[in-house]
Amino acid sequence: MNTKVRVAVVTGSSRGIGRGIAIELARAGWSVVINYVSDEGAAAECRNLCRQCSPPSADATFEIIQADVSRSEDRNRLLACVEEKFGWVDLLVNNAGVAPKLRADLLEASEESFDRLVGINLKGPFFLSQLFSNWWIKRIDTSGADRERPRIVIVSSMSAYTASTNRGDYCLTKAALGMLTKLFAVRLADYGINVYEIRPGIIATDMTGPVKQKYDKLIADGLTPIRRWGEPADVGQAVRAVAEDRFPFSTGEVFNVDGGFHLQRL
Ligand code: NAP
Repeated sequence: MNTKVRVAVVTGSSRGIGRGIAIELARAGWSVVINYVSDEGAAAECRNLCRQCSPPSADATFEIIQADVSRSEDRNRLLACVEEKFGWVDLLVNNAGVAPKLRADLLEASEESFDRLVGINLKGPFFLSQLFSNWWIKRIDTSGADRERPRIVIVSSMSAYTASTNRGDYCLTKAALGMLTKLFAVRLADYGINVYEIRPGIIATDMTGPVKQKYDKLIADGLTPIRRWGEPADVGQAVRAVAEDRFPFSTGEVFNVDGGFHLQRL
């Protein structure tokens, strides 16, 4: 292991936004743990892309680790694998998340979908953040000066504050991630661990594939002041800024990466 290369764990980085984050971090010379739940081929593709983008001088490595973030044993195994491969981690990006399989009206939404979304979108990030935090806290004093300020990023969504009555379960999990960010930011500040929430808007990924035509029209009609779809790289660049510690005196901060969607207009 090269102890100078910084290491990030990006959950759900086989595809979509997570892949965009992994690639931007690779471009910045980081080693990245590419996590997936079922699409091993996509994770391998992401690793190839990371290798292509990584500056040769960086000496970075890219490890693929399968783990379902909603399962406690998988989260523990993820951290154990990271420890074994790298011995340290500088950045945890809680990105893995799912939309409901069926967009159901609030009055008909199922408990099964609710439990699935809470498990993956909320319980996963909460307990992963807790697990990594405790691991860091035990090691932080002995790990060397340049390794003392790990960071956590939470990928939430514009659904944290936008009411979509056909996917209330999704909105609830994303709103809760806002509080999760604040809680960990406050609790970890004494350890020098900053926590940030990144709120993507409408980003072109498999998740938004089924609603592409609807959003094409909304965007063309001016839904977002910046009239284009967001790309995974847009989110990746925001995470890179945090990873490179461009906001050392900010924690619990929310970054909207949404083409200006959040701006109220009259
Ligand atoms: P995506 O294209 O559907 O990709 C989802 C990623 O999460 C995949 O890598 C998938 O792995 C992984 N994943 C799913 N369930 C998992 C689990 N239980 N454990 C570990 N990994 C799991 O989704 P995306 O659009 O990139 O979304 C990424 C994050 O951004 C989500 O939290 C989403 O809510 C948020 N977001 C997306 C948008 C958007 O417009 N796309 C907007 C705002 C926020 P496999 O490849 O193995 O399935």
